Amino acid sequence: MHQAKMIINGVPNTSDNVVDVINPATEEVFAQCHFGDRDTVNAAVSSARGAFPLWSNLSDEKRKAKLLEVASLLESNMHELMELVTMESGKPMNGLNGIGSGMELGGSIAWTQVGASFDLPVEVIQDNEEARVEVHRKPLGVVASITPWNWPLMIAIWHVIPALRAGNTVLIKPSPYTPVATSRFVELANSVLPAGVLNLVHGDTEVGTAISEHRDINKIIFTGSTPTGKKIMELSASSLKRLTLELGGNDAGIVLPDVQVSEIADKLFGVAFHNNGQTCAALKRLYVHESQYDEVCEALASIANSVKVGNGMNPDSDLGPLQNARQLHIVKSLVESARENRGVILAGGRELDGPGYFYAPTIIADQTDGDRVVDEEQFGPILPVIKYSDLDEVIRRANRNDAGLGGSVWSNDLDRAADVASRLECGTVWINDHGAVQPDAPFGGVKQSGIGVEFGVQGLKECTSIQTIKIAKL
Ligand code: NAD
Repeated sequence: MHQAKMIINGVPNTSDNVVDVINPATEEVFAQCHFGDRDTVNAAVSSARGAFPLWSNLSDEKRKAKLLEVASLLESNMHELMELVTMESGKPMNGLNGIGSGMELGGSIAWTQVGASFDLPVEVIQDNEEARVEVHRKPLGVVASITPWNWPLMIAIWHVIPALRAGNTVLIKPSPYTPVATSRFVELANSVLPAGVLNLVHGDTEVGTAISEHRDINKIIFTGSTPTGKKIMELSASSLKRLTLELGGNDAGIVLPDVQVSEIADKLFGVAFHNNGQTCAALKRLYVHESQYDEVCEALASIANSVKVGNGMNPDSDLGPLQNARQLHIVKSLVESARENRGVILAGGRELDGPGYFYAPTIIADQTDGDRVVDEEQFGPILPVIKYSDLDEVIRRANRNDAGLGGSVWSNDLDRAADVASRLECGTVWINDHGAVQPDAPFGGVKQSGIGVEFGVQGLKECTSIQTIKIAKL
């Protein structure tokens, strides 16, 4: 049985509070996770604080080299990590359109390599006979990372690598649903990083609360639900921690009437359903012009009925199970509410025979804004297809939601699509695509989808504070 241990000051730690980790495809316990508490958080923060002078004073080149060693370790342990991700998250090894554990590992390696490569040179904003003014970027100190269960390893990398690159030391707390691959990653990283630079404490609300309240943590990078993000913000206020909050999304896609439905149907389906819709920036509300509504609904339902749902260890599975019973319950309740509320279930709409938290990919017609399945983030294999007649009106409807993570416009007329894109209230808009992120382009939400950005130089800057130095010329 796998043991997901904590790591403090380079040393694996166990505890008496051991919690089972369930494989969502079989509902069997496949690992045990050693939970910490407030004392363990204190020990991990002391360890990170102790390692900070050494790590922050290393040259950029040395820190880059260490992170590239971490990337090599991910590469040489790729298959083992892919299996752990599949067993704990349910995500298929290959997955729909190649979006599975293989992609999660490929992304983790790419984000580590590219993240290591960024630089934050001193900016000179004035240099004349009066003065020279320089803007320096300095590490913050101890950065805590709190991660969700949907892309457990890749999101851990998204948090940890820029924090370390900037010279901070780190404490990570993975989701208790998916602690195993992250534990292995931290163990591997600790074989090349100095002791105390990257620490890991397992747990749920108690540990998350201790992190949020801790006076010696300078920043939290959090990815998860909007209510938890708000709680962290509230608890962090007393120590005025910096925060990056990557929260829930309810991304709208707008299909303009000039498209050829047969050309985009597969892609539309893929961006909504990969990883069973359990992706923050998946397409979650699809607005289609009335002239093409029936054709789009029919095409999506036909694809939904043809994809293979099964255990992710089977290389043929396109989609796996929901990651946990709670999420399956949310999905079932949203589909029931649509059914009771004149929604037409064109595909799916039912749980699949167990064991495992499997649910058939579901396409729902005849729901609209104000209906639960449209207004609430489903985070599951459901796509409501919503009819519109007027472009200005559909943009208003897309923007009506509190979430503002991503959005998309589908059209052959790129100028028109760009105009619509500029009017959407969200952090990223894709044209003829959705959810495709890359390590050098900033990503983050507006409105209630979050604060701050990750990735690229902009994301790295968020792991630093500014020190301005003004040198008066005598
Ligand atoms: P969640 O908010 O339930 O949990 C996320 C993490 O927070 C877990 O590690 C959990 O243990 C911890 N936590 C729970 N209570 C806490 C507290 N009081 N204080 C501190 N930490 C606490 O979210 P989830 O169900 O794991 O993930 C799904 C959500 O994450 C969805 O809403 C999804 O959209 C969002 N998400 C957003 C992004 C993004 O980049 N914006 C990416 C992935 C997922």
